[in-house]
Amino acid sequence: MINWKNNGSVSEKFGTGRLKCTGPEHIMANTYDVAIIGAGLLGTFTARSLMRCRCNVCVIEKQFDVCGGISKANSAVVYSGYDVYPGTLKAALCVPAAEEFPALCEELGVSYSRCGSIIVCSGPEGEASIREKYVQGLENGVKALKLLTSDEVRSLEPNISPSVRMGMYSENSGTADPWELGIAAFENARAAGAEFFLRTEVLDIRQRDGGFELITDKNTIFARCIINCAGLFADKIREMLFAPKVRIMTSTTDYAVFGRSSRGFVNHVIFTEHEDRKKGITAVPTVDGNLLIEGPYKNKTKGHESICTAEGIRELLQQGREILPGLDGSDVIRYFSAVRPGPYYTEEKDGRFVRSRESINSFAILKDTGVLSFVGIKTPGFTCAKRLGDLAADFANEQLGGLQINKDFDPVRPAPVRVSGMTPEEHEALVKEDPGYGKIVCRCEMVTEAEIRNAIHAGASTLDGIKRRCHTSMGQCQGDFCTARTAEILAEETGRSLEQVLEECHD
Ligand SMILES: Cc1cc2nc3c(=O)[nH]c(=O)nc-3n(C[C@H](O)[C@H](O)[C@H](O)COP(=O)(O)OP(=O)(O)OC[C@H]3O[C@@H](n4cnc5c(N)ncnc54)[C@H](O)[C@@H]3O)c2cc1C
Repeated sequence: MINWKNNGSVSEKFGTGRLKCTGPEHIMANTYDVAIIGAGLLGTFTARSLMRCRCNVCVIEKQFDVCGGISKANSAVVYSGYDVYPGTLKAALCVPAAEEFPALCEELGVSYSRCGSIIVCSGPEGEASIREKYVQGLENGVKALKLLTSDEVRSLEPNISPSVRMGMYSENSGTADPWELGIAAFENARAAGAEFFLRTEVLDIRQRDGGFELITDKNTIFARCIINCAGLFADKIREMLFAPKVRIMTSTTDYAVFGRSSRGFVNHVIFTEHEDRKKGITAVPTVDGNLLIEGPYKNKTKGHESICTAEGIRELLQQGREILPGLDGSDVIRYFSAVRPGPYYTEEKDGRFVRSRESINSFAILKDTGVLSFVGIKTPGFTCAKRLGDLAADFANEQLGGLQINKDFDPVRPAPVRVSGMTPEEHEALVKEDPGYGKIVCRCEMVTEAEIRNAIHAGASTLDGIKRRCHTSMGQCQGDFCTARTAEILAEETGRSLEQVLEECHD
């Protein structure tokens, strides 16, 4: 039994140390002010925001690495905020978040491309919808929006179909790598003192003595406050403590990634507005020089996993060619599928909780005493990750009775060394410091042995983790040449057998 000794500010009473409580030693060792469940973009950014205060925080993540859930497969677009309803939390967060995004990336050592976006249509309904979005954008305070004629669209995007009728340009949109951003927030939060329990699954939660007991498959953790960032599973986590309010339905969407030969094929993020006002394909010139095409929503799925189907891919490429006729399917280097969360309110009928008909269009954020739940945060969650993390930290601060500012917090996370993109002179100087920078392992992306070792020292424990940190196997050959050597380095660095490393290669 735990007896909480403090009711108000943890930091005022106990400084930066652990929360004082009485109880068995092993329990005291696992006692935190705040437990964050899930280490996707929201969990890592919540941890980082909390590190601005003096409090002890842990993040519990069931997968091998951070950003392995929704955050690993999305469109990577920074939305400027013209397509969110005025007056909503989404609008209040998204517009400033997009403006701040370049500075955030700079602080965290993450690449950002402020390429801007163009939304286009081919018919009158699409045009009406774009004009509404223009007015909505102005109402939301989005800067630098411009309606474009079809000629103006084509002069900015020469490969776009002549069928395009008009468009709207938004300067404040861009693209960055969601993995890079989440990993940077994780490293920054961890360096500031947040503890991460990876490969640890929360199985149950109980209220206890003014706090919470989180039972995991590895240990029991006590926390005074919980921030539930469990993505697609956040409804289930919340229901461990409270009656159902919001449940998540899932749908899927397919993606095609084109190789570097596609660089320059489009210059801006391109969105398409259909005549039925449904979302069409999105084309993204990624920060790494690839082209990403995202398809329309597919049917609702029952589970949380998603696989590409031949039919889905055919439809994706066909719709892609309607707007970008020169798209060449033979340039595709990878297809993948992503799961979208769709939160719905629940209502009680005959003693059972059932899903209501209407999907929740805004961010689904539920506040219960001591627990804040982000329930299946959809687009633009990547754009707003920092702002949502700040919102969660404010909640924790309120619940804990006011925390002291941590004046020692350093928000800067230095960018990892990247050989690709260096001049020969810069590279030569680096090789003199460490010959490992001279040993190329991934030829497509120019990744060296030293960069792989750095990624492992920074927290990568799987081949996927290395890929997300330094881009091995993301090039034209998709790992045919580098996987074996990368696995050997991972085995050497972690003391595991090659078989183990290959068995645990994916999240
Ligand atoms: C297809 C798609 C495209 C998108 N495109 C964009 C875009 O272009 N721009 C934009 O701004 N936003 C976009 N978004 C939204 C954005 O990707 C999400 O809002 C964001 O990634 C959500 O992150 P999260 O941390 O809430 O969830 P997740 O990344 O899913 O993280 C949740 C974590 O919780 C862990 N977890 C779950 N249960 C447990 C448990 N019991 N114990 C321990 N850990 C647990 C999971 O393993 C997971 O790692 C897109 C979303 C989708 C689905």
